[in-house]
Amino acid sequence: MKLFNLSIFFILTLINSLQALEASDRLHINTKGGIYIHEFKQYNSNPEVFSNNQKLLTVEYRDRYFLIHAIPYESDLGRNKLEVEINNNIDHLSFNVKKKTFDTQNISVSSKYTKPGIDNQERINLERKSLQVAKNIWYDQDPDLKFIIPANGIITGRFGTKRFYNGTEGNFHNGLDVAAKKGSAIVSPSKGKIILTGNYYYNGKFILLDHGKGLKSIFIHLDEILVKKGQLVNKGDLIGKMGSTGKSTGPHLHWSLILSKTYVNPEYFLDNRIIDYFSLKVE
Ligand SMILES: [Zn+2]
Repeated sequence: MKLFNLSIFFILTLINSLQALEASDRLHINTKGGIYIHEFKQYNSNPEVFSNNQKLLTVEYRDRYFLIHAIPYESDLGRNKLEVEINNNIDHLSFNVKKKTFDTQNISVSSKYTKPGIDNQERINLERKSLQVAKNIWYDQDPDLKFIIPANGIITGRFGTKRFYNGTEGNFHNGLDVAAKKGSAIVSPSKGKIILTGNYYYNGKFILLDHGKGLKSIFIHLDEILVKKGQLVNKGDLIGKMGSTGKSTGPHLHWSLILSKTYVNPEYFLDNRIIDYFSLKVE
């Protein structure tokens, strides 16, 4: 009996510690490529906030006002400073960038992607410019921050992974990879407006979706695009089919989330994590 009680106690303690770990893990979003959330307590309407002449995302949640700031992947760990202009007044914010461990992946791709050749350079440059123009668009619509995963399958790549292509270090992996069979459904993870589609050298067939106020999703390597530029979509709408077009090694969806022109970890927007942060952490 005594042993039985002890086991129950041990199990309960274990469950509690697992739950505690999960809650703190869910709040662990102020990492490289993560999010810094700041509450504006002295305002009674959603303030306009700029940093380096760029408008930032501010949201209203139950009569409270929050800044949702993208922490660049290249940021230093520890204390970071942010100068902002709030309703025309300069203010200085500071936040802590916490450590997160990133994996390493080795990938083999056709040499046409690692050494594209002079004849493809003009096309690559034009496509880069076109993407840049679209990424700079400001769509004055409040985003819905409760995202759903845009495809079902196996997660084969996470945000922040160091990647070596054919043995040479490339850019860090700036999104989430979900693999399933060719033709699998891709749905919109949140509402928004389609601002660009195309079939580009590296991206293959892709969709750029604007969720509003500087928050955008890009879905690449598609087999089929089922939406058109200018179209409004709701969360869960079918937008495309999974494929392996462009710089890809097999059928999967690569989903990147861009906030204030900065790549951020899309997983931080899943499972209600941003909304939970408002009520759990920021008081
Ligand atoms: Zn990817």
